[in-house]
Amino acid sequence: MLMSLLKRTPLLLGLLGFLPTAASAGQYQNFNAAVYVRAYEVQLMKDPAWLRDNWAIVERQVKVDKVYLETHRDLIIVDDATLQQAKAFFQAKGIVVAGGIATVRNESNLFEVFCYTQAGQRAKMREIVEATARNFDEFIIDDFFFTSCTCDECIAAKGDRSWTRFRLDLMKEVSRDLILKTAHTVNPKVKVTLKYPNWYEHYQGTGYNLEDEPPLYDKIYTGTETRDPVHTGQHLQPYHSYEAFRYLENIKPGGNGGGWVDSGARGNADRYAEQFWLTMFAKAPEITLFAMNELLMPFGERDRASWQGQGTSFDYAKAQARCAGSPAMKPTLAAVAGQALELADSVVGKLGKPIGLVAYKPFHSTGEDFIHNFLGMVGLPIEMVPQFPVDAPHGAVDREREARPCHCRQDQGAVARRQERGDHHGPATGAARPRHRGYRRDRSLRAARAGAAVRAARTDRNGGGAHRAARGALPDQRVVGDHLHTRQRRRPPGAAHARLQQGQALRTHRSG
Ligand SMILES: [Zn+2]
Repeated sequence: MLMSLLKRTPLLLGLLGFLPTAASAGQYQNFNAAVYVRAYEVQLMKDPAWLRDNWAIVERQVKVDKVYLETHRDLIIVDDATLQQAKAFFQAKGIVVAGGIATVRNESNLFEVFCYTQAGQRAKMREIVEATARNFDEFIIDDFFFTSCTCDECIAAKGDRSWTRFRLDLMKEVSRDLILKTAHTVNPKVKVTLKYPNWYEHYQGTGYNLEDEPPLYDKIYTGTETRDPVHTGQHLQPYHSYEAFRYLENIKPGGNGGGWVDSGARGNADRYAEQFWLTMFAKAPEITLFAMNELLMPFGERDRASWQGQGTSFDYAKAQARCAGSPAMKPTLAAVAGQALELADSVVGKLGKPIGLVAYKPFHSTGEDFIHNFLGMVGLPIEMVPQFPVDAPHGAVDREREARPCHCRQDQGAVARRQERGDHHGPATGAARPRHRGYRRDRSLRAARAGAAVRAARTDRNGGGAHRAARGALPDQRVVGDHLHTRQRRRPPGAAHARLQQGQALRTHRSG
């Protein structure tokens, strides 16, 4: 409440002398900005001079309301004294401070995460949660909160269940009994936020449980980091930065705490900036900038996109000029973040509630890979929902999601009622798919669907890290991957498909 008052009445409060000093928290009018700090940099904050000098670089380029200080990553646990010293530094500036946990044992080893079956690894996680909850009244869990372990103990614990079912059940139990119970025992008032990664199609394969976890946590959070859409392993389309936030908002209405972007694999500054814009256009109440170390990285010629100077994209020259005041001030990526957020702030206040074509994405379902974002990129506004949209006048579901038979009785009933009243615009499901002629003839839709299939197949070959682990390591996921390949073999490529293949060949050539 205080923060919103400060934002609405800066002049009055300024006259009364109530405005925070220095970095002046709350300078964006329509959202809060937070900076995440990895355990590596939090450790460096043990040296007050390092903290003072490096934070000065960040705060003169971007307006920060909150910081998340990470307590653990790669089996490094930051000591309490360093955490408390850093906390006091930020609080003195009027900046809200929360904790953060990266539940990863060795990030550089293909995102080696925890086994939650082995007692020793569970004990280590308990130690990490205790350390975090005793230092903070709020913390967020970064997006390594999954398991891809296939050790003998996990095989035994899995029993007859699929790996997906086993891991969904396991991570629900870990959330409730290992994370939240431990945190609340140490600090009864602690609030815990679970951040979800940017690979919503594959959450269930490694145990990210969108059905059972969100009700357990105080808030959830959305990874909206899309990076370069062509040359990176995930090939996420820019629209994803908007759509992913909307989907999780519909999972936990009012409980999706914000969007989270990074500068990794951006290709150029435009792609980094667009992630901010698209996340804020989804009406995220907060944006988290991952991470302080990235904000300190130089911003230079390699970030200039080839289309600069045409007035329709990120203004590289303006961002460079922001840093021209002092010879000692080298521009860093914080300048890009600051400029992108200022521009978004000038627009977001004029936006209403986001709406779109309702797209049914049932819990734990797998379909044409990220088809919703391809639809978004061809100009169809998409609003993904986890429950069957009984009352929506129009809707869409990709054909591959039909591979999962009817997801619940309510869906079957809703489809039947739609058919009874002759409504052919309803979503297709495995139970009853309307033969809607427009649906079949829509060339852009078919092109986007072909694109998704091509992209999914490409991900199988080239995808990396957790994303690949989620697709490739699991029998359930392989079925879907094989299904996509089968479809391509069975159906000769149409014109749209061929064009996409040709485009991919050209892009591959250019990148080489
Ligand atoms: Zn295991």
